[in-house]
Amino acid sequence: MRSNQFVDRLRDIVGAEYVRVDEESRTTYGTDALKRGHPADAVVLPADTAEISRIAALCNETRTPLVPRGGGTGYTGGAVPVRGGVVLSLERLNRILEIDELNLLAVVEPNVITGDIQDAVEKVGLFYPPDPASLRQSVIGGNVAECAGGPRAFKYGVTKAYVLGLEAVLPSGEIIRTGGKVVKNVVGYDLTQLLVGSEGTLAIITKIILRLVPKPPVQVTMRASFPSVRHAVNAVTNLIRARVVPAALELIDGDCLEAVAQALNVRSLAPAGTAALLLLEVDGIAEQVAAEAVRVEKACADAGATEFLRAKDDAERQELWRVRRELSPSLRMITPLKFNHDVVVPKGRVPELFELVDRIKTQFKLRIPCFGHVGDGNIHVNIMVTPGDEDEIRRAHEAEGVLFRGTIALEGSISGEHGIGFAKAPYLAMELTGPTIETMRRVKQAFDPNGILNPGKIFQ
Ligand SMILES: Cc1cc2nc3c(=O)[nH]c(=O)nc-3n(C[C@H](O)[C@H](O)[C@H](O)COP(=O)(O)OP(=O)(O)OC[C@H]3O[C@@H](n4cnc5c(N)ncnc54)[C@H](O)[C@@H]3O)c2cc1C
Repeated sequence: MRSNQFVDRLRDIVGAEYVRVDEESRTTYGTDALKRGHPADAVVLPADTAEISRIAALCNETRTPLVPRGGGTGYTGGAVPVRGGVVLSLERLNRILEIDELNLLAVVEPNVITGDIQDAVEKVGLFYPPDPASLRQSVIGGNVAECAGGPRAFKYGVTKAYVLGLEAVLPSGEIIRTGGKVVKNVVGYDLTQLLVGSEGTLAIITKIILRLVPKPPVQVTMRASFPSVRHAVNAVTNLIRARVVPAALELIDGDCLEAVAQALNVRSLAPAGTAALLLLEVDGIAEQVAAEAVRVEKACADAGATEFLRAKDDAERQELWRVRRELSPSLRMITPLKFNHDVVVPKGRVPELFELVDRIKTQFKLRIPCFGHVGDGNIHVNIMVTPGDEDEIRRAHEAEGVLFRGTIALEGSISGEHGIGFAKAPYLAMELTGPTIETMRRVKQAFDPNGILNPGKIFQ
């Protein structure tokens, strides 16, 4: 625990009401979706950038770990105070400050829920494409800090493509502004992109300028069933050859389908003989979408699709997406706990990734349902474990190592979306060379010489 004097100084900055030291708060704010938490010594809820600056300066002076927290939906423990200290919850910085229709941008505070930004900009005919499946719980600051992806990344790219500028507080308490309201900006080093994906280890993001695009007027969603994952991936290859770039392209394997069918009690979701399903969406102007939908159907038929559905209206569209949205919670039908990995390989090597997973299933006698963003080769590999089954958990950890090594051998990466946090820190050196890690450490040192900001993350 930090001293009473330290907690009093926090109270002086934000007001007593916004400092929490009760056990429940310390534990709740010390956990994220990884579910391997560690209690904070104190939780502080600042009102604005000026207060954050003073909190950072205090933590720097007293060498107290300071851990920024957004929505707490991270899967690698990024917001977990593994070395105790202060959790800085940004929940009071939750306003959309500006939607600039002429310059196609929005200025937002870090803890606006991502889905709320989408809803607000769509009301004026604009579009913020990044759409992590957690978009109703995670916040834009967390998305920027993790460089979140989602189903639309194949066509539209990930969060980093939409961050024009930032305001951020350094661990010293100094406030920096990077980038700005212009799309072209090459003055000095690109600190904006350095902070995107920095997992709360370099600076605390307090304001974000987001690039927007016009909202596509028409969206058509389709679903195709296949007798194997390879058939489904062949359909993706056909699509790329036909020069169709779907707005979303999601693959769901047979194990996942079975879990959703059980969870929702809808047997037709996992018909016999379906080992893989593709969810596809095309968007744009009506004529183009109509033409692309025909090409999508042909690409799937040529690859051996056993069934093809096309949503006739928004209700049917939502119904097709329901399977995808219910996937994560439905996997609990298999076991209550999963090691959720988000490996990514060049899309042409996705079939090899599935072969690797099949070998791991057999070798380690594990259930490993997979789904993911097949258009960009980013597959969620869920190693299912039973809490308390120590032997299974040991096998699952060994399987992780084999998965990561195999992914790197396929020219891929151990994380396409969820970042490193503390959960994947032991594997960093598997993917990056010594000099690369050393260069990253020097960047960390330049921003945070006393190592107070989110210690224990990315690097071991
Ligand atoms: C059901 C579910 C589905 C998911 N689907 C996806 C998906 O499709 N795509 C995807 O990419 N991820 C997905 N995720 C993972 C997670 O939602 C993302 O990593 C998300 O970006 C985390 O946002 P958050 O607001 O919850 O951040 P948190 O978990 O609170 O924090 C994440 C990291 O960001 C740092 N951070 C937070 N706010 C700030 C800030 N203002 N300044 C500096 N650092 C900060 C924290 O210190 C931490 O290191 C999913 C998670 C769940 C539970």
